[in-house]
Amino acid sequence: MDKMTASSMRNYNRKQVFNAIYHQRQLSRQQIAEMLHLSLPTVTQDLRCLEEAHLIERNGFFQSTGGRKSVIYSCVSNTRVAIGVQIQKYYLRIVAVDIYGSILRREQVDLEYAHDPEYYRTVAQRIDQFVRSLNLSAKRILGVGIALMALLSRDRQTVTKSVLLGETSATLADFKEWIHYPCQLFHDSEASANAELWLSPGITDALYLGLDHHLNGMLIVNGKLHVGKEYTGGLVEHMTLYPDGRPCYCGKKGCLTRYCSAGLLFDEQGSEPFFQRLRSGDPEATKAWQSYTHDLAMAIGSMYALLDCDIILGGTVARHMVDSDLRQLQQAVRSNSLYAPVSDFISLGHSDVDICACGAAIPYIAEFLENV
Ligand SMILES: [Zn+2]
Repeated sequence: MDKMTASSMRNYNRKQVFNAIYHQRQLSRQQIAEMLHLSLPTVTQDLRCLEEAHLIERNGFFQSTGGRKSVIYSCVSNTRVAIGVQIQKYYLRIVAVDIYGSILRREQVDLEYAHDPEYYRTVAQRIDQFVRSLNLSAKRILGVGIALMALLSRDRQTVTKSVLLGETSATLADFKEWIHYPCQLFHDSEASANAELWLSPGITDALYLGLDHHLNGMLIVNGKLHVGKEYTGGLVEHMTLYPDGRPCYCGKKGCLTRYCSAGLLFDEQGSEPFFQRLRSGDPEATKAWQSYTHDLAMAIGSMYALLDCDIILGGTVARHMVDSDLRQLQQAVRSNSLYAPVSDFISLGHSDVDICACGAAIPYIAEFLENV
């Protein structure tokens, strides 16, 4: 074995050891050796290197069944951290995500979007303040992912359309000029669906529907996001539900977003009171919910006919939905469509309010884990 090959083998083994600890969360030296078919001296050396690199740490001892207790090794979950930012018209959500995708800290900053250097400078300042509050050295910050309510160019360098932020010609460079970390842009629905996919890696084919004030969607095919030929895939919100129906901000009439966005049920802060009223049988809330779910069932029926895949509901509305709501929704789809499946096909996504910001941060974590 030449020197290069031996070195590659050591790196490979070390990565395997790290991966085993990462996925199992806690392992002893002996368990790693058995799992990976490596000698104990090799594992010992790899553990030492990983500890020195502050990637893993000792975390007490396993209960002994006789003899010496084994040291527990686990990953330093904040060895690296990624920052996710969700940009809304009137505020930002900022999160710090550890290598398991867990949110370490979150913050909302009231700041109205404007395509203006002062805005981008303020965003960068708030990110800096947020990072300082983490008490981590800058080299542990992998990067900043920014999710926008906007369509982006395929290379994600330029905003191509955003009615919701106001027509803007923002570019990644506008943010990069002020942000001192690696930085990239994402379409918000892509970020949310990406988080779903990463946090539930068993998903193969699914349609993600974000039932927020800004309705959004993303198709997942073969475990990957289908962003489309021109990076505009998943724009379910502008599928026509009722021809000549309610006018939409896109200029068309009858778009799905005019019937199935959360704003039909409650204002930005009003989800809790709305669902309290609904659950206590308030007639007005019940009527609004019936109308909403009727239209949602009709839309899901049409989408399902084409896709024949699971539908994952996310966003503010889904956060309050319970099993009986899903059963009723599925029943409503079946009553509209002869071809709707008999088995369950609608599920709830991860309920965290910051799933979108989290999804903007996760690509940095995924890249770090790939290259550790
Ligand atoms: Zn529209």
